[in-house]
Amino acid sequence: MAASSPEEVARKLGYASPADLILHLPLRYQDETRITPLRDVRPGDTAQVEGVVEHCEVQNRPRRQLIAQVTDTVSGGAQLFFRLLHFYPSQVALLKPGARVRLLGEIRPGFFGAEMVHPQFRVVRENTPLPDTLTPIYPAVAALSQYAIRKAVAGALAEADLSDPLPVPLNLPGFAEALGALHHPPPDADLAALESRDTPAWRRLKYDELLAQQLSLRLAARQRLALRALPLPDDGALAARLLAALPFAMTAAQERALHEIRHDLARPHPMNRLLQGDVGSGKTLVAALVVLPALAAGHQVAVMAPTEILAEQLFLKFHEWLAPLGLEVAWLAAALRGKAKKATLAGIADGTVRVAVGTHALFQNGVAFHNLALVVVDEQHRFGVAQRLALRDKGAAVSACEARVASSDADSQPHMLMMSATPIPRSLAMSYYADLDVSVIDELPPGRTPITTRTINANRRAEVIERLHDYCLSGAQAYWVCPLVEESEKLQLRAAEESHAELVALLPELNVGLVHGRMKSEAKAAVMSAFKAGELHLLVATTVIEVGVDVPNAALMVIEHAERYGLAQLHQLRGRVGRGARESTCLLMYEGPLSEAARQRLKIIHDHNDGFAIARADLQLRGPGEFLGARQSGQQLLRFADPVADADLLEQARDAADGLLERHPDGARRHLARWLPHGLDLFRA
Ligand code: ADP
Ligand code: MG
Repeated sequence: MAASSPEEVARKLGYASPADLILHLPLRYQDETRITPLRDVRPGDTAQVEGVVEHCEVQNRPRRQLIAQVTDTVSGGAQLFFRLLHFYPSQVALLKPGARVRLLGEIRPGFFGAEMVHPQFRVVRENTPLPDTLTPIYPAVAALSQYAIRKAVAGALAEADLSDPLPVPLNLPGFAEALGALHHPPPDADLAALESRDTPAWRRLKYDELLAQQLSLRLAARQRLALRALPLPDDGALAARLLAALPFAMTAAQERALHEIRHDLARPHPMNRLLQGDVGSGKTLVAALVVLPALAAGHQVAVMAPTEILAEQLFLKFHEWLAPLGLEVAWLAAALRGKAKKATLAGIADGTVRVAVGTHALFQNGVAFHNLALVVVDEQHRFGVAQRLALRDKGAAVSACEARVASSDADSQPHMLMMSATPIPRSLAMSYYADLDVSVIDELPPGRTPITTRTINANRRAEVIERLHDYCLSGAQAYWVCPLVEESEKLQLRAAEESHAELVALLPELNVGLVHGRMKSEAKAAVMSAFKAGELHLLVATTVIEVGVDVPNAALMVIEHAERYGLAQLHQLRGRVGRGARESTCLLMYEGPLSEAARQRLKIIHDHNDGFAIARADLQLRGPGEFLGARQSGQQLLRFADPVADADLLEQARDAADGLLERHPDGARRHLARWLPHGLDLFRA
């Protein structure tokens, strides 16, 4: 293989510059620091031996291979065969009798005696010095040899400034020392600890990485305070009218959240707040109330949901509550085309549309807001990190553009309210959302009944259907949730239609409806209202009903292939029952054999009714990356540290960040340049 330049190595490994290679850390190591006398090596050992080639030949039968016989000069004549099944003519030429070779590999008993198959080998002169550190094995890509990577990394280490830009915590080594211990550990290093990333050197790097994240988050928070936004104080008049029309009063937790959000909105800086609350805790109402002052002030509000169905549900709710106040709500549906779409876009652009509800299509090119003052993002956890960033940028662009028109402050930004039913556990919130204020609705509206959850093997399906028959004839209603087919919407639809046909055939005395995502909105709405009116006993549905559907008399839910669903989704689905006075049941029907992960998911959902507990368990099960949806966007948030496992380092970094920015602004800048050379944005999602 031709020698690669450091630039080439860096590029192939996905780095922008060779300097980044100092943080390309080894996966493991091998010991080339000593030569073991051949006679001391036992079969099964991996060792480095040295000897002289006695004989070397290329055989063609029984298969093509190169066999060399080597005599170990140190052990006084012990012999070893080594075989190469793939080799180049140049290698044959190297292995002439008399050549001295160093071989590293596993020794095993062979046909002729002890042998090594495909060891790492090289031809050396007598007394060639041995390396005095362990040899790193780096993460590699095809077409890049370990040798090339080692050379490039060593070069980068020699050139880089490895000094400590900030004071080092007492219990951790210096940066240069830590990198030395990781790239070139001494022969007596604890390999197990190194490989499990549990040494002082590893902890130093994890700490550094977490510190960079905390510093960038603190900087983002400061920047936000330096930004301007339209203050939206609320006199409460519209809110009072909206609330007066409702058949219920707000819970204390809703009141508290509302108060916190209003406080933020009244300030001249952009709000960045997450509203957390379990499924059914009533977040939508709080959102509807806080958009009122923006509308009263003549400004626009964008309300965004992760899917078309959720957007529609939100639109219907907002419309129901705001229209009586004389406030029009526009829905930017995906199905919107031609003239209707043009008109909506024009209304958004000239400000006549005050509230626009939609998916992330709201923030795609071609949609320009006139004077956007507040963005509400529902089910925020379902958006990828990249989408959240795009949203942010769009907000900035929008306000910059507006500012030119209004010739006000050039960096004015909309306020942001995000909502999530997947609570973010403290350690994660601290790590990823330090620039986010959080409100929690920690109580459900009164009158909800607890749900009993059961798991049941799909081989008892006939029994379930029979019970369903009796249950529905006793006056209650039920949902039948069809299996999730993630790969294809078409297959998903077919699964739903099959289940529907089967249940219609098996339950002739019941009225069985079907609702799925491919249906036209009017058709969907017709089925839903028939179900709500009690005209249907049983509603066969896809995850369309995951959110927003509210039928108190429906108290039984059967979920087919429950093992395919994620925890958050199961929890959302189950939240459709338990809304009335009836005792509610959720039957999780599964198809065995279950994978270990699926078994754990079902157990968690069976054992817990509380969304916070489920989210914590979900995090344990999937790890922070997937939990936060980082995988989805292809972005890795942290390379080395894990905010949950390394919570102690995270706390240390968080506690240090503000003081370091205060006392060592230059050092903090250098630290950030080392860890986040290509911008800070990733951490600000
Ligand atoms: P989520 O927090 O999951 O988005 P929703 O906002 O959809 O929950 O609210 C669930 C249901 O509870 C809706 O039908 C809503 O109208 C109703 N609701 C909201 N607040 C209250 C309340 N304080 N008392 C009774 N019902 C309420
Ligand atoms: Mg909701």
